[in-house]
Amino acid sequence: MRCQGPYGRPGDAADCPDPARFEVVRYRRPALAVCPVHLGPSLLMAGDVLWPPQVSLVR
Ligand SMILES: [Zn+2]
Repeated sequence: MRCQGPYGRPGDAADCPDPARFEVVRYRRPALAVCPVHLGPSLLMAGDVLWPPQVSLVR
């Protein structure tokens, strides 16, 4: 799966071509898949992210 960061909005102009390495858990929404570069920014800027963050390794 490709990175959906840093905002997690489909069709966002900030589309990232890198493969996802982590999943960030969100409230009432599917987990957000992000690459290492966007892991930090997504925790701070994506919507509905759990706090404290809950992150898992994709592979
Ligand atoms: Zn990315």
